[in-house]
Amino acid sequence: MSVRKIIIVGGGAAGFFAAINAAENAKSSNMAVDVQILEASGAILKKVSISGGGRCNVTHNLFEVRAFCERYPRGAKELLSAFQRFQARDTVDWFQKRGVTLVAEADGRMFPDTNTSETIIKCFQEAAANAGVQVKLNHKVESLRRLESGKFMVQIRTGETIEADSVMIATGSSTFGHTLAKELGHTITELAPSLFSFKIENPMLNDLPGLSFESAEVKLLIPNEKPFKEKGPMVITHWGLSGPAVLKISAWAAREMLHSDYKAQLKINWMGVDRIETVLDILKKAKTEGVKSQVHNVYPEQLAKRFWVKVLEKAKTPDDKRWADISNKELQAIADVLFATTFEVLGKNRYKDEFVECGGVDLKEVNFKKMESKICPGLYFAGEVLDIDGITGGFNFQNAWTGAWIASQNL
Ligand SMILES: Cc1cc2nc3c(=O)[nH]c(=O)nc-3n(C[C@H](O)[C@H](O)[C@H](O)COP(=O)(O)OP(=O)(O)OC[C@H]3O[C@@H](n4cnc5c(N)ncnc54)[C@H](O)[C@@H]3O)c2cc1C
Repeated sequence: MSVRKIIIVGGGAAGFFAAINAAENAKSSNMAVDVQILEASGAILKKVSISGGGRCNVTHNLFEVRAFCERYPRGAKELLSAFQRFQARDTVDWFQKRGVTLVAEADGRMFPDTNTSETIIKCFQEAAANAGVQVKLNHKVESLRRLESGKFMVQIRTGETIEADSVMIATGSSTFGHTLAKELGHTITELAPSLFSFKIENPMLNDLPGLSFESAEVKLLIPNEKPFKEKGPMVITHWGLSGPAVLKISAWAAREMLHSDYKAQLKINWMGVDRIETVLDILKKAKTEGVKSQVHNVYPEQLAKRFWVKVLEKAKTPDDKRWADISNKELQAIADVLFATTFEVLGKNRYKDEFVECGGVDLKEVNFKKMESKICPGLYFAGEVLDIDGITGGFNFQNAWTGAWIASQNL
């Protein structure tokens, strides 16, 4: 019986998921396969290990496929049909079948119940071993060639060559992976970092690192571009602003920010309310409650005192002002600050918990029914090597699981 040889380039999230599923499928249908993962470095699943602060945010507790797609600045259209075949619920079931329970946090992020990425790595290692997947470390693939026979010649850095029936490129954001795809005729779209926080230097943010806002609205204004808007938790850092609202907006505007050299204006609505009148109502309530007190000492319960002091400074409210003496004009000035403070963004900062690259293999060149190249039959892609990226919250891993699962049905 001939043995079908499947080579997976890259021992990361997508590579492991594809290899395990392909080998398990073959086993259950009595097909003889030799599935090999070739990993360039000396360790597997490195990003899984460090992901989610070492806890691995595996997916997101959102099982409505259309809503799930809305979390992808790039790839939403293509992923819609893919998620109809393998979505977050299938990920939860897949891990459950292998003894790993995923639990959701209040914000929807799902982690293994052990709270450590080691659980995911161990699960993959055991499943790969049981299914007979071979994992070869320090096997950097340097070149891929399609032979006239339709098979592939895989050239390893060690000098070794392997002939394969099908190949999957699952090299993540590595530019070397992009080179392999280009060798086989693919186009790589413009690369840009995604999921970053903003560098801002402004006295209003000084001395406030760590201060968070439950639901701020952020609006990003980049010269000559349409404005971007997001809402969600936000945090002041030592270098500017971060947190889900900022990271999300950085993902949506990843390419535009690259083109503007990370210079833009960021307008913050600190309380995330829809109308300035709502801010005025909140301030009037504080005034009623503290009419005999100084404005400095009685403030809306949603705000921290040290932030309130900064708001008053920015609104030019005198230190000794009492609520009883505050004019409508002064009240309006405070409301203006709370509703729309504008900062100059001076640059970007890498977000340590989840960092992805936008750009990769052009999606027009991939058949999403199989995750197979439209240019080079027998070549498959999954994960971050594609021009797909999601916002923070488990969406990037779900892209890897879904693409890898679909590819595994065809490899
Ligand atoms: C710090 C951090 C935290 C993150 N946390 C989360 C999170 O909690 N949730 C989430 O959804 N996403 C998270 N992400 C994003 C997520 O890790 C990636 O989207 C995901 O790992 C992509 O999977 P992949 O298999 O495509 O690529 P990777 O996991 O990056 O794997 C690619 C592999 O290919 C190997 N490789 C590259 N070139 C070659 C070659 N030529 N030959 C052989 N091997 C090669 C690499 O060494 C690597 O092991 C995080 C990212 C970072 C950096």
